Amino acid sequence: MKLYVVGIGCGSRNGLTLEAEEVLRNCDIIVGYTIYIEQIKRYYPDKECFSTGMKHETERVELALRLAGEGQNIALVCSGDSQIYGMAGLAMEMSEKFPNVEVEVVAGVTAAISGGAVLGSPMTHDFAVISLSDLLTPMEKIVKRLRCAAEGDFVIALYNPSSKKRVDHLQKACDIMLEYRSPKTVCGIVKNIGRDGQESRIMELSELRDTQVDMFTTVFIGNSETRVINGKMVTPRGYRNV
Ligand code: SAH
Repeated sequence: MKLYVVGIGCGSRNGLTLEAEEVLRNCDIIVGYTIYIEQIKRYYPDKECFSTGMKHETERVELALRLAGEGQNIALVCSGDSQIYGMAGLAMEMSEKFPNVEVEVVAGVTAAISGGAVLGSPMTHDFAVISLSDLLTPMEKIVKRLRCAAEGDFVIALYNPSSKKRVDHLQKACDIMLEYRSPKTVCGIVKNIGRDGQESRIMELSELRDTQVDMFTTVFIGNSETRVINGKMVTPRGYRNV
């Protein structure tokens, strides 16, 4: 049968797209990371749910594919969007072993977009999304991408900015930015987007460098045009100049 890899948005049920909601309502079984299953289970009390812990991605996808292969419609849920550091790619790679399962990717609103809306409108010009997690990507490559994005004056959204083992990654990323950008560059952080305890702050790049963030935070670095307007972080596209 079918495996839907569903992005469920960043927080509350309001952040689900209608398409994602329809898939969750109509599927037989929901599979996902423990925290996301807890988040959505109350809205689908009659559904069978399977959850696995963090870092058990392959196991989770294998389970979802196996259940779909047995003839059920499965929704494999991911936070935000299902492609962006989500399970969609892995599900497609692993589906080669399950020829009778069709995989369909259902988009969700990623943290860069929902968090950007909390801050104002920082993503109104070309942007780059970079994960600071070196679990699956070598640090040299992350550094190269940070440099290229900084040099290209992209607005940058940083995912996975910190973890227990990677306390100084944001500081290192900011030091790279400071080689190319003004210390006064407008930046922002948003924690727990769409969830209880949502918090956001706008600050300059020099201050961001010395700010501690956790893994439930997305970090935004403006481009050279990004400004603060009425307390919001705004990247003008240039409409007013034409
Ligand atoms: N698929 C997800 C990203 C998963 S990677 C998406 O599209 O949004 C995990 C990282 O995403 C976190 O470390 C954090 O940087 C960001 N993130 C995901 N959900 C978030 C939330 N509710 N609030 C703030 N950041 C979030």
